Amino acid sequence: MRILITGGAGFIGSHLCERLLNEGNEVICLDNFFTGRKENIFHLMDNHRFELIRHDVTEPIFLEVDQIYNLACPASPVHYQYNPVKTVKTSVMGAINMLGLAKRVKARIFQASTSEVYGDPEIHPQTEDYFGNVNCIGLRSCYDEGKRVAETLFMDYHRQNNVDTRIVRIFNTYGPKMLENDGRVVSNFIVQALRGEDLTIYGTGEQTRSFCYVDDLVEGFIRLMNAEADNIHLPVNIGNPGEFTMNELASEVAKAVGKETKITYLPLPQDDPKQRQPNITRAKELLGWSPTISLDEGLKKTVAYFAERIKTSDNKIAKV
Ligand code: NAD
Ligand code: UDP
Repeated sequence: MRILITGGAGFIGSHLCERLLNEGNEVICLDNFFTGRKENIFHLMDNHRFELIRHDVTEPIFLEVDQIYNLACPASPVHYQYNPVKTVKTSVMGAINMLGLAKRVKARIFQASTSEVYGDPEIHPQTEDYFGNVNCIGLRSCYDEGKRVAETLFMDYHRQNNVDTRIVRIFNTYGPKMLENDGRVVSNFIVQALRGEDLTIYGTGEQTRSFCYVDDLVEGFIRLMNAEADNIHLPVNIGNPGEFTMNELASEVAKAVGKETKITYLPLPQDDPKQRQPNITRAKELLGWSPTISLDEGLKKTVAYFAERIKTSDNKIAKV
């Protein structure tokens, strides 16, 4: 198949490009390099089935493809809050442009949505039928509401135009190829621990997240994209239900790095969700999917990656 991946030079997108190429597909990676980088996909450039296009999804594009994975959007709060208007445009206009393309060429299209559609959830763990608790005027809204509108567009293009859509709600995912200055918690803690700096915990550190290793996530993506079922167009949570406080995560990272670490507590950013854990019953039933990589195993692989990377980089960690 010929497969378009928007945001293909980013953290998750570059893993997906590699996996789909390995399965024998033609892959077109489209990216504006806001948070993506050529290094993530450099090793794929020699493959004759791989193409790279510098393009912004807020502009229309005309291509002939069989499948589209729409991942273009900065995912770290630091980066999506840098230019919030652009973040909304990327999610909303990006979805309209990609759905228009899918409609024209009759491609199946997949949206990378997020657990952020649940906001600061009052239901725990979160099931797909929960409508969420999102502040529509806060600092995180550009991302959360942008992704919510994108889901709306996916459902409406499906109902109105019969576009063959898939929506995944991704819970916090980590692994090699995250930027060392990405600003998300796993990369921050690992880079800080490796550099002998204090780990920065925001708030009391008692807020929770559930962390999924990137290979597990990509497996879930491919299963969902290629699954058939009556209700397959409805959103599916993909994440690892193992839930940790940020204090617990700091200890796990210290263990994986094998160093004594100190902690500095910093103020909690606005609207930071207090708890988050996916209910993955739907993914299990529809796709036979569940995660296979534990946090300590995934952290070891990610630490090995960053240990190599930061030797050649002095990028400062980004802060909200
Ligand atoms: P990332 O920031 O590493 O990747 C995003 C990619 O999109 C980058 O390569 C960036 O340059 C590109 N991009 C941004 N705006 C663009 C635009 N206007 N036009 C073209 N390309 C653009 O983030 P990631 O973690 O790889 O996330 C990928 C997708 O998964 C995003 O849509 C994100 O919202 C979603 N997601 C990720 C997580 C996670 O934990 N990693 C959780 C929930 C949802
Ligand atoms: N966080 C932290 N220290 C950091 C970066 C983040 O304690 O250096 C916290 C943040 O406040 C949040 C959690 O870690 O409670 C996850 O943050 P991240 O930005 O990784 O993802 P999101 O909040 O979007 O789930």
